[in-house]
This record gives sequence, structure tokens and C-alpha cells, in this order.
Amino acid sequence: MQNFVFHNPTKVVFGRGSIGKLSGLLPEGKRIMLLYGGGSIKKNGVYEQVVAQLDGHQWCEFSGIEANPEFTTLMKAVEQAREQNVDFLLAVGGGSVVDGSKFVAAALKFDGQPWDILAKGAAVKDAVPLGCILTLPATGSETNPAAVVNRSEIQQKRSFISDAVRPQFAILDPEVTYSLPKRQLANGIVDAFVHVMEQYLTYPVGASVQDRFAEGILQNLIELGPQVLDSQDYNVRANLMWNATQALNGLIGVGVPQDWSTHMIGHELTALHGLDHAVTLAIVLPRVMQHQRDAKQDKLLQYAERVWGLSPYDKDSTIDLAIEKTELFFRQMGMMTRLSEHNIGDDIGEAVAAKLRENGLEKLGEHGAITPEHAREIVMASL
Ligand code: NAP
Ligand code: FE
Repeated sequence: MQNFVFHNPTKVVFGRGSIGKLSGLLPEGKRIMLLYGGGSIKKNGVYEQVVAQLDGHQWCEFSGIEANPEFTTLMKAVEQAREQNVDFLLAVGGGSVVDGSKFVAAALKFDGQPWDILAKGAAVKDAVPLGCILTLPATGSETNPAAVVNRSEIQQKRSFISDAVRPQFAILDPEVTYSLPKRQLANGIVDAFVHVMEQYLTYPVGASVQDRFAEGILQNLIELGPQVLDSQDYNVRANLMWNATQALNGLIGVGVPQDWSTHMIGHELTALHGLDHAVTLAIVLPRVMQHQRDAKQDKLLQYAERVWGLSPYDKDSTIDLAIEKTELFFRQMGMMTRLSEHNIGDDIGEAVAAKLRENGLEKLGEHGAITPEHAREIVMASL
């Protein structure tokens, strides 16, 4: 196992009725900005619950943060927050609203062009504090230090990581997921699954706690997936929500090498074609597994045996079967796992490779061995 520091200070308040605890979590005497998306929280009653809790606090709101949050929209929020001397942000929504709010929090304290945070990896040392109420179990953004922002005018989807933007608290009420359409539930399941895979499917370093924990989350998601799509059972939703948080709260990623190539290639597919984040992952991950099958052979066999219960009588066919089962699971979640099913043609391979080069993402994977040329091969195999 590699050396690590683990520190996740986000306070999680979980369960039915937990939005009712918001008032006690908010700091006294701050000017709060409530940020949300396109209006789902107004239809499902979350907005009213939040507003009731804001009583007695000074607050304003900013709405309209899109799925794949747009840089230009977020800069409007920055402007409004400055005008109104906002000094605490409350994000209420899915990963896009939480990520978008993290960017606003960082931009408000950033000395320079905020786009540099995303495009040049400029360090974010300080940010306006924030808390969140999560309405879509998927990204893990509610307790992690990462954010992804889209700038569609120049077809860029970029991310940044800073402990300064880790939410102070995250309210997770599984009942808010009842209003989610199947497409978004499926997106959440697949995103969480791939987050685990990108921390788990690397060369083995003897991190048995992280491995067993990761395998447990993967098995849970495989079991829960079909139930989530078919029912509104509280416990199923509660388990989904906690799984998705655990998938990317840092715990399974400590002390192990990580391979985020599927996310990086997926971001370029969203930037170029606007595909849902999770859809890009369902397309790319099986092809990364194929492409990296020799480098990742030991871990692929462990995955096949422990997650899918396959007996490794023949290495090659066991790995093939594990990859096939992974893709079938994504299809069971309703994902179209081929680019051609999304009417994307074969110029996409070179387009993705060019964008990775342009963005300086030339060494992906846990060994830095996946080049833009390899990414082109992976994307072409995804057609
Ligand atoms: P999302 O983009 O936040 O939301 C997708 C849609 O679901 C929106 O239209 C939203 O509508 C709707 N929605 C949310 N909650 C709802 C509810 N309870 N009922 C009904 N509709 C609801 O989806 P996401 O998958 O959570 O986030 C995806 C983004 O996160 C991508 O940009 C991705 O790149 C990023 N991401 C971040 C991390 C990270 O670590 N920070 C990791 C992976 C991915 P409204 O807008 O109307 O609310
Ligand atoms: Fe993701």
C-alpha cells in the first residue's frame, strides 16, 4: 500500500427528514446564496423545505445551473454573489449544482481569471465556504474536493480539485430521489460504479481494505441497480445514496494508484457531443478494460472472481466474460454503450485525441501510459 493522508471533514446528515436539520447547520450571521438547477427542486417540494429552514437568515438565490454546469452561467452567479456580499453558498441539486457551486466558491476568492482554475490548473487556496443538499446520488461531489465545469462555446469540459471547496456539510435525504426520472437514476448508478472501478482496477498494491470495500460497493450497485429502476423502496434508495457517496469520498482511493482515463476520455465526448456524463463512461470503460487487459490482468481476474463470481479457469476468457458482464450491466441500466448508437461517426477518435493533446492530457492511466493515440484506439473500439 502507498503512503497517504486521509481527511474528509464533510459532515454528512443522512436520512428521512434530514433537510429539516439545515437551519442548525448553517453558520450564523452569514449572507447565504442558495444555488440550484433548472427547477426540479420546485416541483418535488425540496425548495419549500429549504426556504422554511432559511427563515431568520439573510439569503438570496441563483437558479438555472445546467446539467454539465456552464462556465458562463456560473460567472453570472459569481457576479451576483459579489454584488450581494455573499459569504456562504448552499448548493441544492445534483452533481452539476454542487460542482458549479464549488467553482463559484473558488472563483469568488480567486485572484486572476477564474477560467485559469480549470484550463491551467491554477491552484485554489481559498474559497467561500459551502454546504449542500444532494438530490441525485451519483457523483460523490457532496463530500469530495472535485468539480467539473463545461464551457460549450469552446467545447471544453474541465475539472479542478481543491480541499477549499469540499462542502462543510452534506444533507442526504433518500426521499428526494423519488422524483428522479429513470434516466438520471441509471446515470447515477453507472457513474458511481465507474468511480469505484477507476480507483480499483489498477495494478495490485496489496491494499486489501480498499479492495474489499470497492468490491462491496460494486456488488451492491449491481444488486441495487435493477431494484432502483423498478421501485421507490426507501431502503433501496437509501443504500443507493450511501453507496454513491462512498464510491468517491476518498476512502477507497487512498494508498492505491488510480486510473481516471475513462472519465477524462468521457469528458471529451461530453464536450464534443453533449452526451450525459454517465453515458460516456458506459461507452468508454469496457473499451479501456479491453485495451489495458494485459497491464491490468491480475486485477481484472480478481474483479472477475470476486465481483462476478467467475472461476478463472482460463485467464483470457475469464477477462472477456468480466468485461462483457460489465457492459451488460450498463445495458441493463438502459445505457446505449456504443457511440454509433448515439449517431456518432468515426471521426470521433481523432477528435478526442486532438482535444486530449490540446488540454495537455497526454499521460492517462495509473502508469501514465495511455496516450492520446491509445485514447483514439479506445474511442474507435467504442463505435
Ligand atoms: P446533474 O447534471 O446534476 O442533474 C441531471 C438532471 O437531473 C438535471 O436536469 C436535474 O434537474 C435533474 N435532477 C436532479 N435531482 C433531481 C430530483 N431529485 N428529481 C428530479 N430531477 C432531478 O446530474 P449528476 O449526474 O448528479 O451530475 C453530473 C455532473 O457531475 C457532470 O457534469 C459530471 O461531469 C460531474 N461529475 C462530478 C464529479 C465530482 O467528483 N465532482 C464526479 C463525477 C461526475 P434540475 O437542474 O432541474 O435540478
Ligand atoms: Fe463521474
